[in-house]
Amino acid sequence: MYRFSGSAMGTQYTVKVVELPAAVLPTALGEDIVRLLGEVDTKMSTYRSDSELSRFNDARSTQWIPVSQEMITVVDEALRVSTMTQGAFDITVGPLVDIWGFGPTLRPERIPAKLEIDSELARVGFRHVHTRENPPALKKDLEEIYIDLSAIAKGYAVDKVADHLDGLEISNYMIEVGGELRLKGYNTHRIPWKIAVERPAPEVRAIHSVIQPGDKGVATSGDYRNYFEQEGKRYSHTIDPRSGLPIDHSLASVTVIADTAMYADAMATAFMVIGSTEGYSLAQRNNLAVFFVSKSATGFTEQATPAFSRYFLANE
Ligand code: ADP
Ligand code: MG
Repeated sequence: MYRFSGSAMGTQYTVKVVELPAAVLPTALGEDIVRLLGEVDTKMSTYRSDSELSRFNDARSTQWIPVSQEMITVVDEALRVSTMTQGAFDITVGPLVDIWGFGPTLRPERIPAKLEIDSELARVGFRHVHTRENPPALKKDLEEIYIDLSAIAKGYAVDKVADHLDGLEISNYMIEVGGELRLKGYNTHRIPWKIAVERPAPEVRAIHSVIQPGDKGVATSGDYRNYFEQEGKRYSHTIDPRSGLPIDHSLASVTVIADTAMYADAMATAFMVIGSTEGYSLAQRNNLAVFFVSKSATGFTEQATPAFSRYFLANE
């Protein structure tokens, strides 16, 4: 087995490949992966002032701004998820993420004033973002729009690496970037990849359940790793774009299995915002494979949609 890992896109990545075609050298493949992840970051990071996205965000213009085809692919998918979730997922949430201290601006952890939240809410709304295919361009009809692709770009990067491996005729792999995954074929034991869905507690990383999704994308969103606490209350990095407030309900984590990691990534964040009750019916209606873990008085309660349940491994 070949294992490639390191830091990229402000997080860690691991790619496992069971065997390589004779024409593919491991060092060259390792370099390809670094380059592909670097390319996504150079386009879509808000942490880089020179990224394509930062240039769009900085532009005080409501004209079409030429961008890469990749940017259009990701923004179109984000807008599709926004429509489907009635704005629970919204890439224009950036200014809110920032005032809550989870954006690229280094801010102290503090609760912003209501007035501050309201003024940032005025510049949030996915309907202000428009895409054009030919030639690829992006446009905002409100100058102050600021896009944050953090909840979808990692998934997209995973899919990009998967496409590359497919192109090299590598057929058994596992790709992971910051917790978002794509699987194909089998592992070194020659059985389909198994994935542990963690128990969402900050102190321990215990295995929770084991799933065997087959050739799919898998993403998990949780409130248990990126948050701050003030007066015993937890403030999550996932923001409800409609209220401007960090999500505040009993949902602890959501895992989504879908054909692409990009869609799974975005939907996992969307379900964190929507919550388990409404989220479960939305998932059911659309036949989505979703697993909700909620905090309860006695520990955790779980809900898996039927589409998800069939991936659980028995007796694990
Ligand atoms: P998680 O594993 O919790 O899903 P991600 O990094 O995938 O974490 O996504 C969380 C990030 O997405 C936040 O740090 C923020 O930048 C951005 N974000 C927060 N709330 C939303 C939202 N409602 N819609 C889209 N993006 C969001
Ligand atoms: Mg996500």
